[in-house]
Amino acid sequence: DSAVNRIAAGEVVERPASAVKELVENALDAGATRIEITVADGGKTLIRIKDDGCGIAPEDLPLALSRHATSKIDGSDLLNIHTFGFRGEALPSLAAVGRLSLTSRAPGQEGAEIRVSGGQAEPVRPAALNRGTVAELRDLFYATPARLKFLRTDRAEMQAVTDIIKRLAMAEPFVGFTLIDAGSDRTVFRADPESGDLFDALHARLSTILGKEFAENALRIDATREDLHMTGYAALPTYSRGAAVAQFLFVNGRPVKDKLLTGALRAAYFDFLSRDRHPAAALFIDCDPVLVDVNVHPAKSEVRFRDPAIARGLIVSGLRHALAEAGH
Ligand code: ADP
Ligand code: MG
Repeated sequence: DSAVNRIAAGEVVERPASAVKELVENALDAGATRIEITVADGGKTLIRIKDDGCGIAPEDLPLALSRHATSKIDGSDLLNIHTFGFRGEALPSLAAVGRLSLTSRAPGQEGAEIRVSGGQAEPVRPAALNRGTVAELRDLFYATPARLKFLRTDRAEMQAVTDIIKRLAMAEPFVGFTLIDAGSDRTVFRADPESGDLFDALHARLSTILGKEFAENALRIDATREDLHMTGYAALPTYSRGAAVAQFLFVNGRPVKDKLLTGALRAAYFDFLSRDRHPAAALFIDCDPVLVDVNVHPAKSEVRFRDPAIARGLIVSGLRHALAEAGH
């Protein structure tokens, strides 16, 4: 069973950044307003995610670690997914590939801790914590040296962690994010919680992540096509980048990398950009979850729209309209 678990886990956890993504998504699902991420050695030896969310009651800690246990869905609701997690397999997968511990405190409860070692959960113990949850994953892939060898340098893994944190921070402008490199005790990235309406908050957050120049050259996007809705900001063609691609796409709040969507983005700017330039944008497509499958593969971020032509049309016409209004 533990070998089966490890194989399944490999599907979800490819590298430190994928572990960070799962743990931060859990913190977001828990309603956190501030999330602190600490990593050491590019996440290979330590990933610690501290949140101020709803916490886990002591008696629920063992459940959180068991495969396909999730507090976020009941069987009748399989297609109607509004939270990030719904498979209930992230924590057991992480426990199978590293040394996982969860310390948590739900309102009105005592703090408690659970550790998994050698695939076996230890008994829940009392632990001191004010509120929320601390998830700690140490020594990723320690039991599978072959997988460890496939990881890139600490620096490259840290870069991948930073990238995923920035994407998640874009999608959640009202939540504060701090990323700390434990080795140098350096704050690598920091975004305080934004306020105001969603567009104001997103604009401020994009200014923090992509820079003032992007924010000053960004067109506000708000478009609808049939049942798909797109919001966000896209840069004027004059700002758009050369080699450095700054394209951030989200479907129902999840960061995705998808050829259909990036192709549509490119098509929208086709008349305004030479071939070596890339449009810069942060775009959020939202729709009823039944119209899109964002879980084609757990570790990948591809999406499959029920009607891809509508998604493409939304992006092309929505962006062209905004560009035309700005005089292009
Ligand atoms: P999923 O997120 O798909 O439900 P996970 O394996 O990621 O599955 O998490 C299992 C369960 O553990 C969640 O459903 C949730 O109840 C609980 N949990 C995990 N992380 C947190 C957290 N940071 N705060 C509160 N509850 C959490
Ligand atoms: Mg989860």
